[in-house]
Amino acid sequence: MESSGGGVVLHTASGFRISGQRVVFATGYESQQYLKQNVGALKSTFALIREPCDSFEGWPDRSLIWESARPYFYLRTTSDERAIIGGEDVPYATAHKSEQLIARKIQKLQHRFADMFPRLDLEVSYTWAGTFGETEDGLAYIGQTPEFPHAYFALGSGGNGITFCVIAAKIITDLHLGRPNSGANIFRFDR
Ligand SMILES: Cc1cc2nc3c(=O)[nH]c(=O)nc-3n(C[C@H](O)[C@H](O)[C@H](O)COP(=O)(O)OP(=O)(O)OC[C@H]3O[C@@H](n4cnc5c(N)ncnc54)[C@H](O)[C@@H]3O)c2cc1C
Repeated sequence: MESSGGGVVLHTASGFRISGQRVVFATGYESQQYLKQNVGALKSTFALIREPCDSFEGWPDRSLIWESARPYFYLRTTSDERAIIGGEDVPYATAHKSEQLIARKIQKLQHRFADMFPRLDLEVSYTWAGTFGETEDGLAYIGQTPEFPHAYFALGSGGNGITFCVIAAKIITDLHLGRPNSGANIFRFDR
């Protein structure tokens, strides 16, 4: 990417050039390589989804449950009568690549679930794990940085990153169009 007049020119790996007024970096934790500011620590996190079941007995209002403990444990139900259970983070970006560690972490999640809901079966359909970036204050970084005046960054770090991404789309649209956005200050890089 290079600055050009009031905008940017992007060079793709296959040799094409794309010109624009602005560019949005939505490249997740890979974005750290472009930035001077440290935008968080990389961790591995683990999750599983269980087979659909007939009963959620003992689960008050099928509420979303999220521990504030570290490492945390979270769980929620889905519209197709399943439960998603996750957490057990470890402070290493690539730890989740170990099949052994995944198996151990999934077992821990299953035990936690069994402790909380002893009357519910937990037949696991699928398990997964991956890297995610966690910021010091738990909030995403969304907006502009001094080193790239023609760029916006939408970095949905953290365990709420999917929600932050939706917020980022609104904030960046408003910043670009010069419209006020009350959330912009909360997520700005120099907060
Ligand atoms: C196991 C697990 C469970 C999670 N559970 C939840 C949850 O329940 N709720 C929640 O809100 N969040 C959850 N998260 C966190 C959430 O996934 C992230 O916070 C969110 O995806 C971050 O969004 P992002 O757009 O910043 O980055 P990403 O979703 O990582 O997207 C970045 C994209 O950019 C691409 N990319 C990178 N570099 C380049 C490049 N040079 N050129 C082109 N493309 C590039 C990547 O391939 C990727 O597709 C979970 C994460 C994991 C790993």
